[in-house]
Amino acid sequence: MAQKIFLENTYQKSFEARIVEIRDEAVQLDKTAFYATSGGQPGDTGFLKLANKNYSVLGAKKGEGLEDVWHMLEDTSGLSVEDLVVGEIDWDVRHKHMRMHTLLHLLCSLVEGEVTGCQIGADKSRVDFNMEADAANKEDLTTSLNKLISEDHPVSYEWITDEELLSNPSLVRSMSVKPPVGTGRVRLVRIGDKDKPIDLQPCGGTHVKSTGEIGIVEIVKIENKGKQNRRISVVFA
Ligand SMILES: [Zn+2]
Repeated sequence: MAQKIFLENTYQKSFEARIVEIRDEAVQLDKTAFYATSGGQPGDTGFLKLANKNYSVLGAKKGEGLEDVWHMLEDTSGLSVEDLVVGEIDWDVRHKHMRMHTLLHLLCSLVEGEVTGCQIGADKSRVDFNMEADAANKEDLTTSLNKLISEDHPVSYEWITDEELLSNPSLVRSMSVKPPVGTGRVRLVRIGDKDKPIDLQPCGGTHVKSTGEIGIVEIVKIENKGKQNRRISVVFA
């Protein structure tokens, strides 16, 4: 069970941690800043450093345990359980993922309909919505998104218990992602004011600290993917 540094400090790029398990070409640490692939956001890449040797981290993914994060290495030879390593994430890519991820919260706040899927990339992302045809158009959505971005709304967090979340089903927006319960507490992400948030939902992903940091964006495509399914694609402008 790893302490997830990115839940407390999304901006921490490097950290010191102890190896607790090695399996094939993957290692688990007692704490990590590496985000593990989930919710449509790719896991972080980077490296682990022991003595003067750098071990490339090709990705990070979840394990059987709810709090497991496996760091996928090219090669684990020379590493042992109990070794103290320095980890460093590829910040350029992670920061783009943070900007995109926060942007998708804004997009969900503007589009009526349930989210049925999502894929975050460093340059392009997409969200699938269960919605009526012609319920959204590229130009209006682009304008509305850039307005919310330029207003520079704060992003803040609050922890609630599993029971509090399960008694508030309206908090869970996405059909494809199960509510992140099981560890006893859930993190809510809020964009905007406490009294009248633009978006409020449980999320264990990585976000920027305010919407201005996202930068100017553009909706490039709205596709029909089945009778009620619309896929909306967005890029940094
Ligand atoms: Zn999120």
